[in-house]
This record gives sequence, C-alpha cells and structure tokens, in this order.
Amino acid sequence: MSTARRTHGFRESVIRGMTRLAREHRSINLAQGFPNFPAPELLKDAAARAIHDDVNQYAITWGAGRLRQALARVYAEWYGFDADPDREITVTCGATEAMISAMLALVDPGDEVVVFEPFYENYGPDAILSDARPVFVPLEPGQPLDLDRLAAAFSPRTRAVIVNTPSNPAGRVLTRRELEAIAELCVRHDCLAITDEIYEHIRYAGEHLPIATLPGMRERTVTISGASKTFGVTGWRIGWVVAPEALTDAIRKVHDFLTVGAPAPLQEGVAAALEQLDRRFYADLADGYRRRRDRLFAALDGAGFRCTPPEGAYYILADFSELPVPAAARLGDSDFAVWLSREVGVTPVPGSSFFHDPARGRSLVRFVFCKTDDVLDEAARRLATLGTPRADAGLAAAASGDAALAAAVRSGLQR
Ligand code: GLN
Repeated sequence: MSTARRTHGFRESVIRGMTRLAREHRSINLAQGFPNFPAPELLKDAAARAIHDDVNQYAITWGAGRLRQALARVYAEWYGFDADPDREITVTCGATEAMISAMLALVDPGDEVVVFEPFYENYGPDAILSDARPVFVPLEPGQPLDLDRLAAAFSPRTRAVIVNTPSNPAGRVLTRRELEAIAELCVRHDCLAITDEIYEHIRYAGEHLPIATLPGMRERTVTISGASKTFGVTGWRIGWVVAPEALTDAIRKVHDFLTVGAPAPLQEGVAAALEQLDRRFYADLADGYRRRRDRLFAALDGAGFRCTPPEGAYYILADFSELPVPAAARLGDSDFAVWLSREVGVTPVPGSSFFHDPARGRSLVRFVFCKTDDVLDEAARRLATLGTPRADAGLAAAASGDAALAAAVRSGLQR
C-alpha cells in the first residue's frame, strides 16, 4: 500500500530514534530533552486529586477554565502581557501540538516561513505538513543574529517567522535588540511571529522577553509555551497558545478536530502549579540548570569537544572534530553519535538533524543536561575516557566501516 505524499518529505524523529538506541545500548541518554528528576509535589497532588474527584471527561476543547485563568494571571504578572482567557488562550497537547495547529491554521500552501538554524527538528515537518516553504537564517551558539541575513530572508511571500528563545539546540537567548529587529521586519512585511518559548524559565543570561509585548506585535504574534520543561512533566502533554482572537479562532478549530482537548485532570495540576509556585521556584529552576550546564560543559570541554556554554535551554551543541582521538574527525555525526552511545555509553543526537543541509551538522552532536548530578557525573566519567588508546582504537574501527555500526545507525535512526 502506498502512503500519502505529505508524509514522504520527512522522516521519523532522530531524537526519539537515539532514545531507542540508548535503551538498546544501556547507554546514558543525553539525547532526548526530558528531566529525570521529580515534578513539584503540589502539581502531582493536584492532578491526582482531580483524578480522584472524577475529573475524567473532556475539558472544554480550548482548555479548562481554571488553567486559562491561571495563565492569564501569570502572563500579566511576569511580562505585563494581558490576554483574555476566554478569547485568546488555548490549551493544547504540548507546545508541539500548539505549533502544528498554529501552522495549519495560519499558513497557506506556498507561504514562506523563516526558521532559525540550527532548529528544533519539529519545525521542518511542521512546515511540510502545512505546505509552507521554510527559509533558513543562521542562529549559532554564542553568535549574535546576523540582522542583514535576517532582513534578506523576508520577502512579500513571508507569512511567519518562528521565534524560539531560549533556543534549542543553539542555547541562544535573543536580546531585546534582536527581538526588536525581528519585530520590525514582521511589521514591515505584515507577517506573523509564531513563538516557541518552552524554555522561558531556563535561562543563564539575559531576560525573557515575549516578542508579543513589543510595539506592533501583539496583534501579529502567536505565543506558544507549555508546562513540560518548567515543571518537568514532558509526558503530561500540556501546552498553550496565546494569540489575538481572530487567530485563536482558527487555531482552536484545528486543535479541536485534531485532539478534542488536552488531558483534563493534568490541566488541573498545571493550574495549581501556576497559581501556587512563587518566584523562588522559578529562580531555583534556573539555578539548578545553571549548575547542570556548568557540569556538562566542563565534561565536554575537558574531553576535547569544542562548544559554547548556552545562555538558555538545556542543550549543548558540541563539535567533535578536534577530539584527542584522531579517527573521530573521519566519522560523520550519525556514526559518531552511535559509536559514542555504544562504546562510551553516552548517547547524543547527531547534529545534522538540526540543519536543512545535513553537511552543516556533520561534525556536531547535541547533549542534554536536564539530568541529576549522578547521571551527569557518570556521563562525565565516561566522556573522560575519550582520550585513551582504547577509544581511539574503537573509533578507528568505526571510521573504517564497521558493519555492526552501520546496522546500529540504521536501526536506531530509521525504525
Ligand atoms: N524538545 C526535546 C528535545 O529537543 C524533546 C524532543 C521530543 O522528543 N519531542 O530533545
């Protein structure tokens, strides 16, 4: 049987493929970005209570009233961003569903969508599924956004720009000046900003500035975020969209027919967390992540990877071409990632999955640090073996074409 053409232009998630491979190799999974530490008790208690209280049926399709109210309150308090919980806020099945629902609702076939690169892998398939044409602009770790290249990417065909800050995988926190430049282009070309602010509370530098709050942007911004990263509940699938009423109406229709709604009792848990956790919680979250960042950065730097400490989010993109193991430079990113997973016991994501031209990510892999200290310390211990003769011999075998390695790459990445 044939399959629909719209599914032919993209493949399964490489990030999740690497998670499977990590399991197979019993290797430390520093590939997929999910925390291994517990969620706040009050959030779990509130969700459990909701289940016991029989909050078991559909919530309102665009989200439980209590959660939308709580969101309206925190956006006003955190950012001076006023949104009407009845007309402008929609609760979705994670930020992932929010993004694809927004794209399907707002982008017409052939429209151009500006995407910063390296990008989170979902934006590619999102563009394909909505028949959009992605136009890429570099946003590299530690590098300022090139405003001339950005301006050149906008045209009369541009419908939207995807603004992911703090960014995955580059770890950039866009500055006010960079966001103002993006906003100015959106206004000039009459196009939308669709944001992904899922790491808004995980920052080590700068401030989080929702682009919706900049002049001229409120009416043209779709603000997306969610509970997954802030509260460590990636499996709950609770995200949200804040957008002007007319845009919200279209997004809600798509969201309704795709999902009916997000899990009702879990929405109660997230509402309780937003209502009750104070500034201290968010400050501690960022502090904890800063410590983890410094730990993993030191381990990668010490092992000979070239990388820049991220300003936000919980990823490090690392260049392996100058490791003290000469054979490494002869491997591509997928082979290196699989080799590291199998032989060293630490699993990253191949860099090419974050670039439209895979050649750009050939010497890069991405590691996450949303893990407890024991896991990061063990990963550091394993990475420290990279300079040893054993590692070099293993890499040399891999570089010279090991059939088992090739099979592992295929099964890990394509199953
Ligand atoms: N956002 C996370 C990452 O980049 C999780 C990816 C996923 O599996 N959806 O790793």
